[in-house]
Amino acid sequence: MNDGATAVPALDVAGVSKAYDTASGRRIALSETSVRIEAGEFVSVVGPSGCGKSTLLMMMAGLLAPSEGEIRLDGRPIDGPPPGLAVVFQDYSRSLFPWMSVRRNLALAAASDKLPKEEVARRVQHCLTAVGLPDAADLRPYQMSGGMQQRVAIARALMVQPQVMLMDEPFAAVDAQTRADLEDLVVRLGQEFGATIVFVTHDIDEAVYVADRVLVLAAGPGRLAADIPVDLGSRRDQVETKLDPEFARLRSEVFQLVMRPRAIVDVPVSASA
Ligand code: ADP
Repeated sequence: MNDGATAVPALDVAGVSKAYDTASGRRIALSETSVRIEAGEFVSVVGPSGCGKSTLLMMMAGLLAPSEGEIRLDGRPIDGPPPGLAVVFQDYSRSLFPWMSVRRNLALAAASDKLPKEEVARRVQHCLTAVGLPDAADLRPYQMSGGMQQRVAIARALMVQPQVMLMDEPFAAVDAQTRADLEDLVVRLGQEFGATIVFVTHDIDEAVYVADRVLVLAAGPGRLAADIPVDLGSRRDQVETKLDPEFARLRSEVFQLVMRPRAIVDVPVSASA
C-alpha cells in the first residue's frame, strides 16, 4: 500500500470531462473531475449505475479520450493505451481465448515485450502461482470455473509487470464466496507487486474492504462527490475487518453518498450544437 505522497502522482486526472453524442443530445458522462492517485495506492471507485465509473477507467486506460482536461501517467499525458498499464474487465469469458491453453493466453500478453522464451515461461509460472493456480498452465479456460478464469485474467494482467492495474467490476459475475477470495487476492497482489490499483465496483462493502481510498462518484452528470481515506490498516480479513466499527462507519458514509438522488439529463441536440 502507499508509503506517502510522491512529487509526481502515478495517475493525475486533471479537470477531465467526457461527453458522448447521443440521438437525444450530448450526454455529459463525467464533468470536471480531478484526482491524484499516488504510486502504490489501492483506490476504489464506487457510485450508482451511469455515474461515469467505466468512462473514467477507460480514459485512464487510454481507450477513450477526454472531451476536456488531461490524464497523466507518471507525468506523461495518456493519448492511447500506455505501456505499464493493464486492465482487468468483468467479463472474463470474453477476455480469454477459450481455445488456447492458459500458458498461451498469458504468454500472448507479454508478446510485444519480445522477451526470451525462458523469461516468458518463468513469468507465466510466477504469475499463475501468485494467483493461486500453479498447476493450471495446460488447462483451457472452458475447463475452469468462473472464479478460476478471473484469476487467469488477473495473472495475465500481471504478465506485463504493470505499474498500474485498472479493474472494471472484476468480480461482479462470480458467486459470493469466490468474490471474497478474489477480493483478498487483489489486496495481497497490490501489496506484493506494488502496483497502483484503480478498482471500479458498485458494491459498497467491496469498495471499502479492498482500498486505501474510496472515490465516490455521483450521477447526473457524473462527477467526483467524495474522496474518502480508508484507515483500516494493510491487513484485511473478511470477518475481522468487516466487524471493525470503522468499517461500519465508512460503509455507512459511502452508502449515504451513493444513495443521494440523481438524474441523467441530456443537453438537447439544438442546445448543444
Ligand atoms: P457507470 O460505469 O458508472 O455505470 P458509464 O461510464 O458506463 O457509467 O456511463 C456514464 C454515462 O454515459 C451513462 O449515462 C451512460 O449511459 C453514458 N454512456 C456510456 N457510454 C456511452 C456511449 N458510448 N454513448 C453514449 N452514452 C454513453
